Amino acid sequence: MRVSTDKTSGSDGRLFTVVVESYGVGQQRQAERCFTVSFDRLQSLMQSIARNGGRIRVVSSGPQLASEAASATGAAAPPQALSEPSPKLPEPPQAEPAPSNAKPAAPSVSHAEVLVNLYKPKDPFIGTVLDNYSLLADGAIGRVNHITFDLAGGDPQLHYVEGQSIGIIPDGTDANGKPNKLRLYSIASTRHGDDLADHTVSLCVRQLEYEKDGQTIFGVCSTFLCDIQPGAKVKITGPVGKEMLLPDDEEANIIMLATGTGIAPMRAYLRRMFDPSERESNGWHFRGKAWLIMGVPKTANLLYDDDFNRYETEYPDNFRYTKAISREQLNAKGGRMYIQDRVLEHADEIFTLIEDQKTHVYMCGLRGMEPGIDEAMTAAAAAKGINWSELRPQLKKAERWHVETY
Ligand SMILES: Cc1cc2nc3c(=O)[nH]c(=O)nc-3n(C[C@H](O)[C@H](O)[C@H](O)COP(=O)(O)OP(=O)(O)OC[C@H]3O[C@@H](n4cnc5c(N)ncnc54)[C@H](O)[C@@H]3O)c2cc1C
Repeated sequence: MRVSTDKTSGSDGRLFTVVVESYGVGQQRQAERCFTVSFDRLQSLMQSIARNGGRIRVVSSGPQLASEAASATGAAAPPQALSEPSPKLPEPPQAEPAPSNAKPAAPSVSHAEVLVNLYKPKDPFIGTVLDNYSLLADGAIGRVNHITFDLAGGDPQLHYVEGQSIGIIPDGTDANGKPNKLRLYSIASTRHGDDLADHTVSLCVRQLEYEKDGQTIFGVCSTFLCDIQPGAKVKITGPVGKEMLLPDDEEANIIMLATGTGIAPMRAYLRRMFDPSERESNGWHFRGKAWLIMGVPKTANLLYDDDFNRYETEYPDNFRYTKAISREQLNAKGGRMYIQDRVLEHADEIFTLIEDQKTHVYMCGLRGMEPGIDEAMTAAAAAKGINWSELRPQLKKAERWHVETY
């Protein structure tokens, strides 16, 4: 379809609806998407679609829904000049996608449809603790628990998707006598919950512990959660966050860099990808490559290790599990093996994967992990003649570089 842009150059209030197929920015690559833009932004949207290898089905005037636009004008072939794929990384369009009623190939959720803030701090959902157990083996450092809450009976039901977080408001008051404030925790279960009942949520919580003025201090909320007993009622808010959502594409490649409880969202992704009951109920059949690089201080601190080992055995072509155990393994220089050392060690393969536009990288854990990873990526990229400080923002813009550190 030809789109005339020679009439006016500024915004004249007219709106256009553009229906696109196979748009190339990871999240909805297979799905039909519908954008509504003003006339002055139409040209840049067209260019963005062309760069991302999308196919324009329909361009029509007015903010219609995808199906209306399609039935009103019929499918349209893209102009030749716009269908050339660009060798550059894809850029997201300048316009916000309008809601589309086109069904994606898989029953997954697009970012626009992901719900946030169903429950706010002023009126939280009251969940019930179902389970709370230690994830650590004998000899581990610290305390990390897996805690599951029942979300049944909410109106609205507190739904979430993999990669989101919830807020917990611990009981009691702070040092000023005011009610404690909420703390965020990454969700460690899939949207179906660990028991697939569709109304539970699980967290992976490390008890904060540090020394101050010769005293051991324990974190308020993390201690509240690690100590909590089944049956207890807990104030829950959220869900929040869209930074760590998985792409819909079943053929995407997912590189995961996690330290400690940063494994929480990755555990949810990996269950969604490889747990047999999950695969059966979610209808999302991952076929890409998933690679988890996990950093912990000791073997006894590895989290969900048995599950990950099993996935690797059952899906050797799709899942790879690399551990960096700082107090037990040595890096190439004879020092402690941190996650960034593993990144450097596998730099070539990581960058070969990143060159594939279907590859997403997820990083989660303590904020302190970021400089080390950045340094390793800089060195690894340089070895391939790539400037990491230029590439990283491009990956971020293309929604392929996802970071949640705390
Ligand atoms: C998006 C997001 C996701 C998160 N996901 C998880 C998760 O999955 N699992 C998890 O366990 N945590 C997670 N957290 C962290 C969590 O929200 C809390 O911050 C953590 O549990 C500590 O809360 P607390 O109430 O126990 O500590 P608090 O009682 O609030 O104490 C924290 C405060 O103690 C002080 N402090 C901390 N360490 C030191 C130190 N070494 N020396 C001196 N002072 C110090 C700092 O002032 C800090 O603000 C996440 C945070 C965010 C933002």
